[in-house]
Amino acid sequence: MKHKFILKLVSFLFLATALEAQEISKIEIQRLREHVEQLASPGFAGRNNGAPGGLRARQYIIDHLRTAGLKPGNGTRWTQNLPAPLRGANILALLPGNDPELSREVIVVGAHYDHLGIRGGRLYPGANDNAAGVAVVLETARVLAASKKGLARSILFASWDAEEDGLLGSAAFVEMPTLPRERIVAAVDMDLIGRDFLDLFPDKLFAIGTEHSDRVVEAVGRASQNCPLEVIPIGADLIGPRCDFWNFRRRKIPVVFFTSGEHHDYHRTTDLPDRIRYPKLLEVARLVESTLRDLAGPGKTPRYRPGTYHPREADELAKILRGILAQTPMEWFERWTLTGAVARLERFSRQDRLSEADRMTMRVLVGLTLLRQRYRDPPPQDQGKSHKTRRR
Ligand SMILES: [Zn+2]
Repeated sequence: MKHKFILKLVSFLFLATALEAQEISKIEIQRLREHVEQLASPGFAGRNNGAPGGLRARQYIIDHLRTAGLKPGNGTRWTQNLPAPLRGANILALLPGNDPELSREVIVVGAHYDHLGIRGGRLYPGANDNAAGVAVVLETARVLAASKKGLARSILFASWDAEEDGLLGSAAFVEMPTLPRERIVAAVDMDLIGRDFLDLFPDKLFAIGTEHSDRVVEAVGRASQNCPLEVIPIGADLIGPRCDFWNFRRRKIPVVFFTSGEHHDYHRTTDLPDRIRYPKLLEVARLVESTLRDLAGPGKTPRYRPGTYHPREADELAKILRGILAQTPMEWFERWTLTGAVARLERFSRQDRLSEADRMTMRVLVGLTLLRQRYRDPPPQDQGKSHKTRRR
């Protein structure tokens, strides 16, 4: 009897230690912050593709992937050069899956690491665009490599170059992949994930493009259950070719694109590391990790299907427009236009199906909302506060 008790105690202690060992590999907010601060610092000069700052960023990313224990993702090389005359290189790192069969299938997770560099003597640090996305690539790579349990499929961690020149890095990869394209069964993309849409919606995150795969919808749905952020599905057609996920979608590869959308410092010299909301970035990183564990797990292989309509979409967009109306001072004309748009979206949300004309109307409404943000004056605290580059 007593022996049995001791045996139980020992096995309990053993289990506790094992659990504690697992604790080590969790996403850490401090590491995310460190990556963003480094990559957006003046030393990396805005990470323009092919420029010295871009090359330094490349080395920084490779060093961390190597330390995390990943393998080079292009044979023995960590990089895939863009074809001439393009400048730059994608960074690719592989985490092989555990299952002898399923490990042939690859989930690609990526974020672009390039930004605008230095223009007119001014540094564009690109903290949210997209140092934050790269930080999540590096942190999920570290954590997944440290605890590979359940990862049947392989994961390719990608940092795309030349996104700002027109999604060129990811296009080069999708057109000339470093492995047979049919082995790529899903892609997870991230951009603009550490701030709030129009600086107005702190708890919202968009999951774009999932309408093409039920398996991806399920994976994101399960991952969202433990996420305090409100994860809103939006059809890829509503935003168009605005980020790297588009190249995968074009080749009919199931995708999800996580983004909080544009914010006030978008493509400005004020996109600085201290403006990132790190607790939110941490939640996005956890969501991406869970989504990857689900997709790379032993479940069904994701398959692409046509499809453009999410049942919640119109309702969610109406909520966002109502939020803008409630929180932003505006002229009567703009208020009148937005109120009309809300009414239109509410009507769509009650319809079972949307026609192509309805989708076009929604595309226009989303486009106008973004355009309005783009041409809004920056808030007073931004003026004259931008980061001037020091001569080094
Ligand atoms: Zn970007």
